[in-house]
Amino acid sequence: MDLQRSAQAEVDIALVGAGIMSATFATLLKELNPDLRIAIYESLEASAQESSNAWNNAGTGHAALCELNYTNERSDGSVDISRALKVNNEFDLTRQFWTYLVRKGAIPDPGSFIHPVAHVAFVRGASNVAFLKRRYDAMSAHHCFSSMEYSEDHAVLNEWMPLVMEGRDPSEAVAATRDITGTDCDFGALTRILIANLQKQPDFSVAYRHRVTDVQRGPGDGLWHLSLHDRKSGAKTEVKAACVFLGAGGGALPLLQKSNVPEGKGFAGFPVSGLWLRCDDPKYADRHDAKVYGKASIGAPPMSVPHLDARVVDGKRSLLFGPYAGFSTKFLKKGSFADLFASIRPDNIAPLLAVGRDNVDLTKYLVSQVLESRDARFKSLLEFFPNAKPSDWRLEVAGQRVQVIVPDKKRTGSLQFGTEVITTSDGTLAAVLGASPGASTSVSIMLGIMTRAFAPNMPAWMTKLTEMIPSYGRSISDDATLCYDIRRDTAAALHIVPPKAVGSVKAAI
Ligand SMILES: Cc1cc2nc3c(=O)[nH]c(=O)nc-3n(C[C@H](O)[C@H](O)[C@H](O)COP(=O)(O)OP(=O)(O)OC[C@H]3O[C@@H](n4cnc5c(N)ncnc54)[C@H](O)[C@@H]3O)c2cc1C
Repeated sequence: MDLQRSAQAEVDIALVGAGIMSATFATLLKELNPDLRIAIYESLEASAQESSNAWNNAGTGHAALCELNYTNERSDGSVDISRALKVNNEFDLTRQFWTYLVRKGAIPDPGSFIHPVAHVAFVRGASNVAFLKRRYDAMSAHHCFSSMEYSEDHAVLNEWMPLVMEGRDPSEAVAATRDITGTDCDFGALTRILIANLQKQPDFSVAYRHRVTDVQRGPGDGLWHLSLHDRKSGAKTEVKAACVFLGAGGGALPLLQKSNVPEGKGFAGFPVSGLWLRCDDPKYADRHDAKVYGKASIGAPPMSVPHLDARVVDGKRSLLFGPYAGFSTKFLKKGSFADLFASIRPDNIAPLLAVGRDNVDLTKYLVSQVLESRDARFKSLLEFFPNAKPSDWRLEVAGQRVQVIVPDKKRTGSLQFGTEVITTSDGTLAAVLGASPGASTSVSIMLGIMTRAFAPNMPAWMTKLTEMIPSYGRSISDDATLCYDIRRDTAAALHIVPPKAVGSVKAAI
């Protein structure tokens, strides 16, 4: 659709949920057309209280520098880096948009949400070491991963991550790759900054404690009618919007179902809960300056790959280990245990059953994680941090993820671990389902929605888009010089580590 100020609607675009997705989308749209009337409706009392909250996610600026699940081993032993490249380049779009906002003054201090933290992939055992070396060879040959280093040497690894190496058998076969251009991000802080900036602009509003209970196409007017429940006063009201964005995290699927759009038929959700171990003691937190990702266990969903993370939240350093996956029928951390059951519809029973049948390993894994004792949980931490002591760590509940079950033509379904974006054919409603790679790729997700939903606006928006995202429309993975220039520029603005120049790039500078 052609997104313009609409005479009939009360708001041009209504966004449900005040997490990083809505905050990013609203910010992009307001930059592209300041006249648009944009309203966010949020059920809770403040922004970023669900998945976008710093302690509900791992804060990894996902650039595929350390996550082993983004690179698959082919049957001939070679390593496919295509997915890693995609995620890596998506984060470049995000970095450019943040850079634009920093230079504009909309983000006063990048240090309030992003910090340089090395990204490390760490493996144990001879066959894993051999795989990591092959992976390193494949990745470091590409200019996008030119800053990656590799070592099997205990002394070098001890420098990179002393807590991981101290207390380890010196004869153990271990290896790691490290990329010092990696980042830790506080997506909660960023959401608050973006919304505060939006609130300074005309024709933007955010209504907290307003739960959207229904989304229906109005009879005759072609607008979306959102039913709102004011959780403080109990009042029930309605708002008419030309477009709707369901950035409601785990709350997006139920609203998509209520909207009754054909594009949403057959989708279902599979909730996965999570737990972290957290340590705030500076004697450890100050000695770990990396996000150390390992290999997932058999049956484990990709987002449950264990990692020992350096976190910087509100200026304080902490360690976070996990996530330990679990099963809960809630779709949001502050949701209801009835969420899963309420989402079952005649059109998604077959996909749900098919996924149950085809994912026995996953089900076993989740059950085993739920039943895991505190001691067993601690044992997996010891694999990363051999000298860890239980008394220094406390258990925290992570954000809830709703993995998407995507229907297919045979009326069966497959479980997806990525993000699924649904856009109606007329472009008036869009929803983001799923959670991975998540917040880090929010800009790419929103650009994708705009291209599909607001195609008529794109030519007029092009100049502004390239001002905000200079590489927009060009490929960073095909152009080494562009890649280097963009990364050096965004690193300077965001106060993070610039890339290492290599090969043709070196000649170009
Ligand atoms: C354990 C875990 C680890 C993760 N680690 C990372 C990571 O390291 N890096 C990364 O980039 N991403 C990570 N993610 C993913 C990332 O956190 C999410 O992709 C991102 O926060 C989603 O943002 P959102 O705005 O869509 O959802 P949310 O932040 O969940 O916001 C949705 C909002 O909608 C509101 N809402 C829901 N229903 C309604 C309704 N009916 N009416 C009004 N409001 C409603 C909710 O209250 C909530 O505030 C992780 C996620 C989890 C759970």
